[in-house]
Amino acid sequence: MAQGEPTYKLAGRGSKPQDTVIDVKGHTVGGNELFVIAGPCAVESEAQLFEITKAVKSTGVSFLRGGAFKPRTSPYSFQGLKEEGLHLLQQAAQTYDLGIVTEVMDLSLLDTVYPYTDILQIGSRNMKNYHFLKALGKTDKPILLKRGMDATVEEWLLAAEYILNGGNEQVILCERGIRSFDTTLRNTLDLASVALVKELSHLPVIVDPSQATGKRSVVSAMSKAAVAAGADGLMIEVHNEPEDALSDGPQSLRIPQFVKLMEDLESLSKVSGKSLPNSEMQMVDLG
Ligand code: PEP
Ligand code: MN
Repeated sequence: MAQGEPTYKLAGRGSKPQDTVIDVKGHTVGGNELFVIAGPCAVESEAQLFEITKAVKSTGVSFLRGGAFKPRTSPYSFQGLKEEGLHLLQQAAQTYDLGIVTEVMDLSLLDTVYPYTDILQIGSRNMKNYHFLKALGKTDKPILLKRGMDATVEEWLLAAEYILNGGNEQVILCERGIRSFDTTLRNTLDLASVALVKELSHLPVIVDPSQATGKRSVVSAMSKAAVAAGADGLMIEVHNEPEDALSDGPQSLRIPQFVKLMEDLESLSKVSGKSLPNSEMQMVDLG
């Protein structure tokens, strides 16, 4: 690369000064809407997913998360319900009229996951899988690109560049914590990177305070801090019975905690010029 040449030509504000606003299922990411995605880390059963989805919907959230194929550190941990998990996600999302965000773990699973999801989630462990990123550049659905746990801001933006360069302009960046010397929490939430990336890039940036901290008691505070830092949205893990969760229970908000957080975000989001969609739907009784 010639000296002085911008490293992320397409992701940088140099090529596109105005914010990218992505339309998905009647909602927008990167505009005036605070885009909140919530749900369990993993789809575990119909009863679990439906109970959580109903609660999430009652707060006015418009996108449901849930892993069907899980990238677990240990091969002995729950790996996800796979296709059955995708079917359940589809049923729950249809029942409660929500969009779906779920992870595609590798290229061989793209065709399987693609028809079920509105946004393709690319995990932290795959941020540097350049072959995969190139293939995602040829898809026509929004990509939620998690920051690699060891990635610099430049590497993260260059990963987005691979997707943009392939022709897919719908990239949502997601800060999910990085590894540091301090292992007190699961990761270190780099909120400064959110403000910085908003300055460097026109792409929407959201924050996942669940993977970033690994600790339920600090998730609500970090969600609010992320909004104050200028995040375009949040991705939050919620569970009806976190003690019995098959994946990421300790970092999953209990339903009442999530409901309270959404109430707090209703007013806080205005500070950064955003609002929650369906505000008038807040706390509706879904029976
Ligand atoms: C998740 O969202 O459950 C997940 C595995 O995320 P990450 O890729 O950020 O670890
Ligand atoms: Mn998780």
